[in-house]
Amino acid sequence: MSARVKTGLTADCTNLSIDPETRLVAWTRPAFGGNIMATIFCPDNRPQMGTVRPKVFKKPVPDYNRTGKIIREELAINEKDIRTKLIDVVKVCTFSCNLEDAEIIVSGGRGLGKPEGFRMVEELAQVLKGTVGSSRAAVDAGWMPYPHQVGQTGKTVAPKIYIACGISGAIQHLAGMQTSDVIIAINKDPDAPIFKVATYGIVGDVYEVVPALTAKFREILQ
Ligand SMILES: Cc1cc2nc3c(=O)[nH]c(=O)nc-3n(C[C@H](O)[C@H](O)[C@H](O)COP(=O)(O)OP(=O)(O)OC[C@H]3O[C@@H](n4cnc5c(N)ncnc54)[C@H](O)[C@@H]3O)c2cc1C
Repeated sequence: MSARVKTGLTADCTNLSIDPETRLVAWTRPAFGGNIMATIFCPDNRPQMGTVRPKVFKKPVPDYNRTGKIIREELAINEKDIRTKLIDVVKVCTFSCNLEDAEIIVSGGRGLGKPEGFRMVEELAQVLKGTVGSSRAAVDAGWMPYPHQVGQTGKTVAPKIYIACGISGAIQHLAGMQTSDVIIAINKDPDAPIFKVATYGIVGDVYEVVPALTAKFREILQ
């Protein structure tokens, strides 16, 4: 579409801001594998176009009074001419990793100390009917597969509840979860930056706090 209207397209943005005077949009998106954040302008051509990564903005409340018209376009394409074919879908998730749609996410970080710590995180997620997320440190350590990573170089999520277990709250992690409705942080360091964005903070050892939460939620919810 942008080619047709002869303008630029900034795809997969994680942030955007508009200068109220010039109405120029500053589109921000990760570049070079997420190692830098690039800010892109489209100063000459109009319209300014971009696509935004899922969950960067909150969904508006549905307005059922609005109406629309579905226009079905006829396409003269012969299926034989399409060179791309879907052969198979290979799932790489150990535990449900549909993070973008999850209403509750329980994430683990390096503070778990060992890969087995994620069993405890998964148990809490299961009791809450949620999904498991991870910091990059835990992914880099090989404790969780990449599709679970939350943050600048992972997924952007905005669940109703985000529980961070043993995650320090580095800026790159916060970039992927700070718009969550309620953030619960469990960390043994009272000065951990995650507490600055947390709605509720629990200072303690994950190996004491998480099993206690799991047991209590199990008692209440079952
Ligand atoms: C370009 C770039 C992109 C990046 N992208 C991402 C990204 O997408 N996502 C991401 O997460 N990171 C990303 N990072 C990495 C980020 O900077 C941090 O290094 C990472 O988030 C740290 O992960 P962590 O919080 O699990 O580990 P740490 O920072 O090591 O924190 C571990 C925390 O656990 C606590 N802890 C330790 N033991 C316990 C215990 N027993 N009980 C309770 N708490 C405990 C500690 O107090 C500490 O606060 C990126 C970095 C760069 C440079």
